[in-house]
Amino acid sequence: MIEDADIDPAIVRAFAAHMAKRFNATIGRTPAALQAGLRLVGMQPEKYATTLGRAIYFPIDLGASNEHWSPWSQITVMAHECQHVADNDARGMLAKGWDYITSTTRRTEHENRAHVAQLELEMWRRGEVAQWWPGVRASALKSYHVTDTDLLVAERYLRVCAPIVRRGGLISVAGAAAIEWLDEHAPELRHPTVRPR
Ligand SMILES: [Zn+2]
Repeated sequence: MIEDADIDPAIVRAFAAHMAKRFNATIGRTPAALQAGLRLVGMQPEKYATTLGRAIYFPIDLGASNEHWSPWSQITVMAHECQHVADNDARGMLAKGWDYITSTTRRTEHENRAHVAQLELEMWRRGEVAQWWPGVRASALKSYHVTDTDLLVAERYLRVCAPIVRRGGLISVAGAAAIEWLDEHAPELRHPTVRPR
């Protein structure tokens, strides 16, 4: 099994390019002004990717890695951000932006949908969803200034999705698109117990 840290950077870049094209998005480095904005709300810009409209920003050049970003985490976060782009399309960019800023419940829902794409990729790669995964993933929302109730809802949502994903179900459009590409171009990263689509 290839370790997360040993994944070929070329795979990360080709995957990201495919996903950007598929979801009509662009990829760039986090601009300084956005980094400053993230710091202002107590988030460490080096740890987060951000999507504004169709622009996806990473704090690292894709394919490079550091202590915050393994090549595998770049793949799963790219899928996460593409789910946001797809949701922007479905809900309308302005309406979604407004929801995101003004309602912690709606912000949690948006993040939940994107976390499901990561859940699907975890299953594809590891052949299981660890019991701890929904809780740890949901608790990452603490940095998003949501309420304790939102955190509970987020964890429950992921726990409800987990058995569906464990049985091979794909819920998110970004997860489905990601797995379709990975099955074809990087099947060596798939867990041996997971069947190709
Ligand atoms: Zn997100």
